[in-house]
Formats: sequence, structure tokens, C-alpha cells
Amino acid sequence: MLFQSHGICPVCNTPGKHWCTTQDWEYRATTHYYSYLNCPACHTLFLEELKEDNLLNIYPPNYYSFSQKTKKGLFKLKDRLDALFYKSVLKKIPTTGLSVLDVGGGTGNVLDTLKKADKRINYTEIIDIDLNAKEIAEKKGHVYVCTSAETYHTNKKFDIILLLNIIEHISNPARLIQKATDMLTDNGFIIIKTPNAKSLDARLFKNYYWGGLHCPRHWIIFNESSFKLMCSDKKLNIESIRFTQGAAFWAYSIINLFRKQDINLKKKPLLESPFFPFVSIFFAIMDLFRSFFSTTSQMFIILKK
Ligand SMILES: [Zn+2]
Repeated sequence: MLFQSHGICPVCNTPGKHWCTTQDWEYRATTHYYSYLNCPACHTLFLEELKEDNLLNIYPPNYYSFSQKTKKGLFKLKDRLDALFYKSVLKKIPTTGLSVLDVGGGTGNVLDTLKKADKRINYTEIIDIDLNAKEIAEKKGHVYVCTSAETYHTNKKFDIILLLNIIEHISNPARLIQKATDMLTDNGFIIIKTPNAKSLDARLFKNYYWGGLHCPRHWIIFNESSFKLMCSDKKLNIESIRFTQGAAFWAYSIINLFRKQDINLKKKPLLESPFFPFVSIFFAIMDLFRSFFSTTSQMFIILKK
């Protein structure tokens, strides 16, 4: 079994309470029902147990981070906004050459954006599990290590370590963050993007399907205070936590409401719905506006030594 919580919160060890039972409505890669529990103490959401023993059973070949599709219009604009954010972090590192590790980086789309944002980047490496993504990433000049985050080992040090939408996919996020800290240069930063369980869309879609569950691929979903609690015993400083748009979670939640709830394995992923771009754009704008005065369902966290 790849993940089993035994009903205990992975952050504070409090017994969890049932939050919802749902299925893989996004990819229909598995037919099992899955239960998510909520910790009454720190409000972390977590999967009760993963009923699969092979990661490739829940990450089908058409999984979004394995594909390399041309981005258009507002999605390009999103990349530019992300590039500005990464640039603001990169400029705090006063060296002539920069190395970047992207854990779970797929075909290297984010590393491409970073390389455009800062010309000092002269080494980029990806850890991921898909062999097809390896070929595409290597063609673009990234080093690709085909393994899981848990089994990866290196003696190299990196100036930037990206854990973008990865810590919610693994069984022991605390251990991964410790590992990333050991691989970080003294002036470096760990950039984490992860869902926030204490968000408006999580509350609204709890009894339907909240896209932030990405069921059954998200195993542990933090909130701002439970993330800080997990890091409290580490030699790490939280440089900043800010909220960013969670448009994809809104789009998955809403489009799924209008879909027939059958687990037909041949159905296309929610991401390929013709409505997905329009719903996403609407909620991206709404969330970016909300992020100035409220929490949203995605957090950007920057850590340093
Ligand atoms: Zn807890």
C-alpha cells in the first residue's frame, strides 16, 4: 500500500473525522471509492488509504504534467505572471550561476519559464516518474531523473528547489521538505505550491466533488497553520506564504457538477472539457482579486535556511 493514514492526522497525530467519500472524477483512472478525513485539531484534510499499489494506476499516460501542449491566450499570461513571481525570488540570490531542481516537474514547462525569467540559470534537473516526459524534458536541455521524490538521492546542492503541487501527492511531506533542505545552498530557496483546505471552494463543494482533492492523487491537504505546524521542528524559516488563484479546482468542481456521475473509464479527463478554459479564466480573475483580502485554494510558500 502506497499510502495509509490509519485514520490519524499526518501533521499532529489527532484521529481524523470523516469529511467526504468520492471517486476519481477527473481522470477516471481507478474505479475505487475513497474517503477523506478532516483533522479536528489542525484541519488538515487527508486520504484514509490509497487502494492502489502502483503509482502509474493513478497517473494515466494523459496526466496533465506529462503532456506538452502549446499554451494560448490567458494561459500564456498566467505563465508571464508566474515568471514575474519566480524572478522576484531568484533576484534575492547573489550568484553568477544558478541551479534549479523541479521535483515532479514533468516535461519541464516550469523550468522553461524560469530559464526565460533569469539567464543565470545554467543547470536544471527534474525528478518524475514518467518515461515519455523524460524524452521531451531532455530534448529541452533538462537533466531528467526517472524516479519518485521519496527514492531520489543526490549529493548535489541547488539554489532553487521547486516543490510545486507535489507535497500533497506524497506520503511523508515533512521528510521531503527535510530532504530538500539538505540539498539547498545556503542562500537558496524552496518554493512550494500546495492546495489550501481552508478555502471557500473546499467548503462549497464538500458534499459534491471539490477539485482540490484531485482524488485519489492528493493524499494530504494542508492549510496555512497546519503547514507552519509541520515545519515548526525544522531548521527552516518561512520567508513568505501568499495565496494565489485556484482556478483549476473551481473548474473541476463546477464542470463535474454538470457531468453524469458514472465511472466510465473511457470518458475524457475533466481537463479536456471544452468548458474548462472559460470556467478557469473566470475563476482565475476572481481568485486573483480575492487573494488581496482573502484566502484562496492555492498557497505559494517560500522557505529558506
Ligand atoms: Zn492535525
